[in-house]
Amino acid sequence: MADSPATLLYAVRTTGVVCRVGCASRPPRPENVVWVRDLADALTQGFRPCRRCRPDATHPQVDFRRRTVEAALGMIRLGRTVEEAAAALHVSDRHLRRLVRQETGKSPREAA
Ligand SMILES: [Zn+2]
Repeated sequence: MADSPATLLYAVRTTGVVCRVGCASRPPRPENVVWVRDLADALTQGFRPCRRCRPDATHPQVDFRRRTVEAALGMIRLGRTVEEAAAALHVSDRHLRRLVRQETGKSPREAA
């Protein structure tokens, strides 16, 4: 299944669900479509993820990266160094810096 974090999402006012563009469910009437920036945007507006196209299911690799970055930033906020956080997550600190940069656009210190 083609799956990209950049997939465009739309929400449907009448059903309250948020879908990926190309969802197999019946297309909504255009006047009921709300375009959303991302899933978080849709959720804060009160929409729930569609069960068919699963906009809440991310690419495993992206999911892994996000979890790694979140864990690392959590450790850094609690006073660990970048090197210690990287070691705890079994990645090199260079690799961790790159992951954080990809995920947040910042260095680990700035992002934490
Ligand atoms: Zn859908």
